[in-house]
Amino acid sequence: MRIYLFDIDGTLVSSGGAGKAAMEAALTEEFGVAIAEHGVPFSGRTDPSISRDLFRHFGVADTPENWQRFLATYLRLLPDLLKRNTGRVLPGIASLLEQLRARDNVWLGLLTGNVRDGARIKLSHFGLYHHFTFGGFGDVHHQRDDVAREALGAARSHVGEGVDLDRVWVIGDTPLDIRCARAIGAKVAAVATGWHSMEELAAAKPDILVRDFSDPAPLLHD
Ligand SMILES: [Mg+2]
Repeated sequence: MRIYLFDIDGTLVSSGGAGKAAMEAALTEEFGVAIAEHGVPFSGRTDPSISRDLFRHFGVADTPENWQRFLATYLRLLPDLLKRNTGRVLPGIASLLEQLRARDNVWLGLLTGNVRDGARIKLSHFGLYHHFTFGGFGDVHHQRDDVAREALGAARSHVGEGVDLDRVWVIGDTPLDIRCARAIGAKVAAVATGWHSMEELAAAKPDILVRDFSDPAPLLHD
């Protein structure tokens, strides 16, 4: 049995900036914020954590009501921004997912800071959503380690048997992905198709490190 838990942005797809653009447009539409350079990092973080920083930076009260307003508008704007931005499925990913799914006793899940509906919208846009049947999502978490715990719990419920952590792989593009894999005792494959260099990822000591998955062998041959 093997379980693979995939990050989305920078790992499976690049949204071409659509996710960030949708969040910024939601701030403008809901709260009248004039977007200027803000320096809030997005990479490897959860949607509630990113939005909390955006709220703080632009002077929006961080209340549950404002989060719900922001989220509803973000999700409404996201599909159109995905169409307008030139995103893509990252190299080798479509083939890697097909090959993993063709194997017996393999389960594919998500481990993402995206809220569940955002993950569905992004992956549906790129034709990848059908590969995944469970996951951990950002909806209620500020820390990626907590998303990893949710993803592992979902995997355990889904697989319905003892899960051997030596056979659970987290695949992601940031040092935070590597850290959250360690938090649940899983193995981790890092891929440098996001914002982080090979050197930066190597410093966080993943089990596997690849530039991209145009050659899927390192993950397939474990
Ligand atoms: Mg990522």
